[in-house]
Amino acid sequence: MTTLAAVLAAEIAAHGPLTVAQYMAAALGHPRHGYYMSGDPFGREGDFITAPEVSQLFGELIGLWCVVGWRQIGQPSSVQLVELGPGRGTLMADALRAIAVAPDCRAALDIHMVEISPSLRDAQRATLDGVAVAWHDQLASAPEASLLLVANELFDALPIHQFVRTVGGWRERLVDVDQASGGFRFVLATGPTPALALVPDDIEAPPGAVVEVSPACVSLAHEIARRVVSFGGLALIVDYASEQGPLGDTLQAVRRHGRHGVLDDPGSADLSARVDFPTLMRVAREAGAGAFGPVNQGDFLLALGIEARAEALAKNATAAQRDDIAAAVHRLVDPGAMGALFKVIAIGPADAPAPAGFETVA
Ligand code: SAH
Repeated sequence: MTTLAAVLAAEIAAHGPLTVAQYMAAALGHPRHGYYMSGDPFGREGDFITAPEVSQLFGELIGLWCVVGWRQIGQPSSVQLVELGPGRGTLMADALRAIAVAPDCRAALDIHMVEISPSLRDAQRATLDGVAVAWHDQLASAPEASLLLVANELFDALPIHQFVRTVGGWRERLVDVDQASGGFRFVLATGPTPALALVPDDIEAPPGAVVEVSPACVSLAHEIARRVVSFGGLALIVDYASEQGPLGDTLQAVRRHGRHGVLDDPGSADLSARVDFPTLMRVAREAGAGAFGPVNQGDFLLALGIEARAEALAKNATAAQRDDIAAAVHRLVDPGAMGALFKVIAIGPADAPAPAGFETVA
């Protein structure tokens, strides 16, 4: 049993079953035993690999997107470049290298990172050696100012609630201790729970169907949109997308590049749920912002010129490096790899033209 499993079992014994959101928040973010709180989960040696770790092209193209975005919002002389959930800091390092081609833009940027994990902050500090960075526990504590914001695979780590359709209506799925095995098991709430009010009224689903709602995703999208509306700016959100809006059980655990039981060994595996982009876009629009997308990550990167950039990179590369570059582009862009599973949205001012990469869906 992991230490966190013992902590959660004691909590359940004292206060009753946990919501899936409470379980997920603890498994990922428990201050001492949460998955992100120690170690380095990324890369080939770790548990999973993210787009910036696949290739420098990803962060570089996002850096160029920021330069174009900065010009679109009127080239403010001072703007925050905010990254949410920066992992090892790879995306930011690659983005800043690309942004250096536009010294006027680079000079306007103050770098802010929102990161809950002390060990990943250390990793980011090492990657961004020599760059002035301000870290925050949450976006709300970053200064209120115009911003260019980037979040890759952050929203999928935010807690979700799950509800199961029963003949008596939706009931929240809870995590209880299985007395027989000593492990955890899912149970259904016997009556209404507070988050039940968040299940959309208009969802038709047969008994047994699951819906997921994430107050954490919704409030973060609202906060991004509020800042864009109040101070000006643009935000880019890239994530593992839900295909059916809130419908479907998408909670998954990954460890050492393989599937792991969601309730097994909390704190030792990554937990994530697919992101309901249409809901985030609706939230942004209700806050007075414009929302663009969702577009497939592959189409977005092609529109930003990943092929030309890969060719330029390949010019000075060895044959083996050229193969690596081609494999990385395939992995990021191909619909059978990450290209369609991951989607991208942008949030900007309501009257703004479509940001780069979104022209075809504006
Ligand atoms: N963007 C990086 C890492 C993705 S993993 C990449 O693409 O490689 C998720 C990241 O978000 C980690 O850095 C994790 O520590 C951080 N994180 C998780 N929950 C968070 C929260 N609630 N607020 C801020 N950061 C969070």
